[in-house]
Amino acid sequence: MTTPSPAELAAAFPLLNDLIALRETAWFNPAATSLAEGLPYVGLTQADVRDAEARLARFAPYIAEVFPQTRATQGIIESEVAPVPAMQNALAQRYGQPLPGMLWLKKDSHLPVSGSIKARGGIYEVLAHAEKLALEAKLLSLQDDYRKLATPAFRQFFNQYRIAVGSTGNLGLSIGIMSAKLGFNVSVHMSADARQWKKTLLREHGVEVVEYEQDYSVAVEQGRKAAERDPRCFFIDDENSRTLFLGYAVAGERLKQQFIQQGVTVDADNPLFVYLPCGVGGGPGGVAFGLKLAFGDNVHCLFAEPTHSPCMLLGVHTGLHEAISVQELGIDNVTAADGLAVGRASGFVGRAMERLIDGYFTVADETLFALLRQLHEAEHITLEPSALAGMPGPWRLTADYLSRFTTAQLNNATHLVWATGGGMVPQAEREKYLQGQR
Ligand SMILES: *Cc1c(COP(=O)(O)O)cnc(C)c1O
Repeated sequence: MTTPSPAELAAAFPLLNDLIALRETAWFNPAATSLAEGLPYVGLTQADVRDAEARLARFAPYIAEVFPQTRATQGIIESEVAPVPAMQNALAQRYGQPLPGMLWLKKDSHLPVSGSIKARGGIYEVLAHAEKLALEAKLLSLQDDYRKLATPAFRQFFNQYRIAVGSTGNLGLSIGIMSAKLGFNVSVHMSADARQWKKTLLREHGVEVVEYEQDYSVAVEQGRKAAERDPRCFFIDDENSRTLFLGYAVAGERLKQQFIQQGVTVDADNPLFVYLPCGVGGGPGGVAFGLKLAFGDNVHCLFAEPTHSPCMLLGVHTGLHEAISVQELGIDNVTAADGLAVGRASGFVGRAMERLIDGYFTVADETLFALLRQLHEAEHITLEPSALAGMPGPWRLTADYLSRFTTAQLNNATHLVWATGGGMVPQAEREKYLQGQR
């Protein structure tokens, strides 16, 4: 099959004209369906997520030992969920429309160890790999106290191996910090978007940082090639990894427990809407999968992307998935939302999750900065630009989409914005973000 030209594509899919013009746009997938119908296409199950939960529980004593900031949660890396009523008011004024229901924030920005959503999938995949190596070498059994992994003997063992990854910044930070802590050699292949402070921080942790002047796809490709030349090197493949995806999916059941504790009901009469910033797709896709398993058809997931990098919307809407990049439409993939600066989406995630994601919307960089400042003023929370992409979501739902719900359901709704990063941004950078500087 030959790929259609941009003009042919835009004729077949008029929505692409909005993407090409960099207009903020939204699309609600008519093919979205129930969990029962959509689940078989994911190729992963509840049992796979349980397996990931159990692995994280085995590692928890080790994590608490080597990352003291996780001791309060016994080595479980998790973030708070909290209502943001002042922000809800500020947004109602900004958009001239009150929001029925309540606005909440999931603060993955403040996840311990690496301060972004990547502390879920990235750290999980490094742990899964370390466990596999140690089990195969018969140095570890599943019943052991995993604190033994912090001993010099284990660090020496892992030091024979290398881990490599391509990243726009945050994935590299998570994988670099976790791998170095275990004793692995680690190479992070960073795209041009990556912030200098992230590279510096990684080098301080002893991580090899390889810099590229091109975007994320090139950094991943080069990382993959370098890893192929070294049989002791394990490449973490952000575009295709089921392991990363499962590490993110663990969030679903954890959020369910948090909501129970906080008295938030999610059921047929009380729907939950979740707004997830999307780059290559693994983070939001994995979290959405976990949410679907935890809340069934009572949760509605929406993906948010920068107007300059709408790769998942493009891939799912055209059905071309990883066979098309935004650059092929003349969209530059240049955005201040460095965590979302991805031109070509994961085909694995697009195909696995397209039936379970209600919709997609794009957000201009200026909007991200305005919302960053607004959240800081209203709630005294400062995020990185990528993490604000979900924030306008409740105001981007169209009347047509909302007509699926009753007024009572909408009045009882919980709208959860997934704040995906920003907790480790240095103060000087934070000031710049607040002034709207890239
Ligand atoms: C990576 C990232 C995302 C999106 O995750 P993907 O797996 O790339 O889709 C969102 N926000 C931030 C801050 C990120 O670093």
